[in-house]
Amino acid sequence: MGELGTLLDAVTATFVFFQLDGKTAVRADASASVMLPCQWCEERVERELLVHCEALLAESEAQASEWAVESDELPVIAVVGKTFDAAALIEDELILAVPGRVCADSACPRRPSTSYGEVVPDTPGPLAGLRQLLDAKQHEK
Ligand SMILES: [Zn+2]
Repeated sequence: MGELGTLLDAVTATFVFFQLDGKTAVRADASASVMLPCQWCEERVERELLVHCEALLAESEAQASEWAVESDELPVIAVVGKTFDAAALIEDELILAVPGRVCADSACPRRPSTSYGEVVPDTPGPLAGLRQLLDAKQHEK
Protein backbone atom coordinates (compact mmCIF):
# COMPACT_ATOMS: atom_id res chain seq x y z
CA MET A 1 0.00 0.00 0.00
CA GLY A 2 1.43 3.32 -1.06
CA GLU A 3 2.08 6.20 1.20
CA LEU A 4 -0.44 8.99 1.27
CA GLY A 5 0.28 12.23 -0.42
CA THR A 6 1.12 15.03 1.91
CA LEU A 7 -0.56 18.37 1.84
CA LEU A 8 1.97 21.08 2.34
CA ASP A 9 0.95 24.07 4.36
CA ALA A 10 0.28 26.06 1.26
CA VAL A 11 -3.43 26.22 0.68
CA THR A 12 -4.52 29.67 -0.28
CA ALA A 13 -8.05 30.56 -1.14
CA THR A 14 -9.83 33.76 -1.97
CA PHE A 15 -13.55 34.15 -1.92
CA VAL A 16 -15.44 36.91 -3.66
CA PHE A 17 -19.11 37.37 -2.95
CA PHE A 18 -21.37 38.92 -5.53
CA GLN A 19 -25.00 39.24 -6.55
CA LEU A 20 -26.38 37.24 -9.41
CA ASP A 21 -30.01 37.80 -10.39
CA GLY A 22 -30.75 38.87 -6.84
CA LYS A 23 -29.08 35.83 -5.38
CA THR A 24 -25.93 35.76 -3.34
CA ALA A 25 -23.11 33.93 -5.03
CA VAL A 26 -19.51 33.24 -4.23
CA ARG A 27 -16.53 32.83 -6.48
CA ALA A 28 -13.60 30.87 -5.09
CA ASP A 29 -10.06 30.60 -6.32
CA ALA A 30 -7.82 28.23 -4.46
CA SER A 31 -4.42 26.74 -4.84
CA ALA A 32 -2.70 24.04 -2.86
CA SER A 33 0.72 22.49 -3.01
CA VAL A 34 0.67 18.78 -2.45
CA MET A 35 3.26 16.06 -2.41
CA LEU A 36 1.91 13.17 -4.42
CA PRO A 37 3.46 9.75 -4.79
CA CYS A 38 4.46 8.92 -8.34
CA GLN A 39 2.28 6.26 -9.90
CA TRP A 40 5.34 4.29 -10.92
CA CYS A 41 8.09 4.68 -8.38
CA GLU A 42 6.20 6.20 -5.44
CA GLU A 43 8.73 8.93 -5.18
CA ARG A 44 7.03 12.10 -4.09
CA VAL A 45 6.54 14.92 -6.51
CA GLU A 46 5.35 18.35 -5.58
CA ARG A 47 2.37 19.52 -7.56
CA GLU A 48 0.36 22.67 -7.36
CA LEU A 49 -3.36 22.29 -7.73
CA LEU A 50 -5.41 25.24 -8.92
CA VAL A 51 -9.14 25.34 -8.73
CA HIS A 52 -11.78 27.87 -9.52
CA CYS A 53 -15.44 27.47 -8.73
CA GLU A 54 -18.61 29.45 -8.25
CA ALA A 55 -21.75 28.64 -6.33
CA LEU A 56 -24.98 30.23 -5.24
CA LEU A 57 -25.47 30.60 -1.50
CA ALA A 58 -28.99 29.83 -0.37
CA GLU A 59 -30.19 30.60 3.12
CA SER A 60 -31.95 27.31 3.70
CA GLU A 61 -32.24 23.83 2.32
CA ALA A 62 -35.64 24.71 0.92
CA GLN A 63 -34.31 27.74 -0.90
CA ALA A 64 -31.39 25.70 -2.16
CA SER A 65 -33.76 23.18 -3.68
CA GLU A 66 -35.76 25.94 -5.30
CA TRP A 67 -32.68 27.61 -6.75
CA ALA A 68 -31.26 24.32 -7.92
CA VAL A 69 -34.28 23.96 -10.17
CA GLU A 70 -34.01 27.53 -11.49
CA SER A 71 -30.27 27.55 -11.99
CA ASP A 72 -28.62 24.99 -14.15
CA GLU A 73 -25.42 27.00 -14.36
CA LEU A 74 -24.10 27.07 -10.82
CA PRO A 75 -24.27 24.61 -7.96
CA VAL A 76 -26.27 25.77 -4.97
CA ILE A 77 -25.01 25.53 -1.42
CA ALA A 78 -27.32 25.89 1.54
CA VAL A 79 -25.73 28.10 4.17
CA VAL A 80 -27.01 26.91 7.49
CA GLY A 81 -26.57 29.50 10.18
CA LYS A 82 -24.31 32.41 9.41
CA THR A 83 -21.25 30.58 8.25
CA PHE A 84 -20.59 29.22 4.86
CA ASP A 85 -18.52 26.10 4.52
CA ALA A 86 -15.64 27.30 2.43
CA ALA A 87 -13.80 24.03 2.82
CA ALA A 88 -16.69 22.05 1.40
CA LEU A 89 -16.86 24.29 -1.64
CA ILE A 90 -13.29 23.81 -2.74
CA GLU A 91 -12.51 20.42 -1.25
CA ASP A 92 -14.16 18.45 -4.00
CA GLU A 93 -12.66 20.67 -6.65
CA LEU A 94 -9.17 20.19 -5.29
CA ILE A 95 -9.62 16.46 -5.14
CA LEU A 96 -10.76 16.48 -8.76
CA ALA A 97 -7.69 18.51 -9.63
CA VAL A 98 -5.32 15.83 -8.38
CA PRO A 99 -3.65 14.41 -11.46
CA GLY A 100 -4.06 10.71 -12.08
CA ARG A 101 -0.45 10.52 -13.16
CA VAL A 102 2.11 12.38 -11.13
CA CYS A 103 5.31 11.59 -12.99
CA ALA A 104 5.59 12.48 -16.61
CA ASP A 105 6.02 9.16 -18.36
CA SER A 106 9.44 9.81 -19.76
CA ALA A 107 10.71 11.46 -16.60
CA CYS A 108 10.27 8.52 -14.28
CA PRO A 109 13.32 6.29 -14.28
CA ARG A 110 11.45 3.40 -12.76
CA ARG A 111 8.54 3.16 -15.07
CA PRO A 112 8.07 -0.45 -16.20
CA SER A 113 9.09 -0.57 -19.82
CA THR A 114 6.64 -3.29 -20.74
CA SER A 115 3.48 -1.53 -19.63
CA TYR A 116 0.79 -0.58 -22.05
CA GLY A 117 -1.85 2.05 -21.58
CA GLU A 118 -2.71 3.74 -18.35
CA VAL A 119 -1.98 2.04 -15.10
CA VAL A 120 -3.18 4.28 -12.35
CA PRO A 121 -3.03 2.77 -8.90
CA ASP A 122 -5.75 3.49 -6.43
CA THR A 123 -4.13 6.17 -4.32
CA PRO A 124 -6.10 6.71 -1.15
CA GLY A 125 -7.13 10.25 -0.29
CA PRO A 126 -4.10 12.42 -0.99
CA LEU A 127 -5.98 15.38 0.41
CA ALA A 128 -7.16 13.76 3.58
CA GLY A 129 -5.83 16.61 5.68
CA LEU A 130 -7.27 19.38 3.56
CA ARG A 131 -10.44 20.01 5.48
CA GLN A 132 -8.66 20.38 8.80
CA LEU A 133 -6.18 22.76 7.26
CA LEU A 134 -8.85 24.91 5.66
CA ASP A 135 -10.91 24.98 8.80
CA ALA A 136 -7.87 26.08 10.75
CA LYS A 137 -7.19 28.83 8.22
CA GLN A 138 -10.74 30.10 8.51
CA HIS A 139 -10.46 30.33 12.24
CA GLU A 140 -7.32 32.36 12.02
CA LYS A 141 -9.28 35.31 10.71
ZN1 LIG B 1 8.37 8.39 -10.74
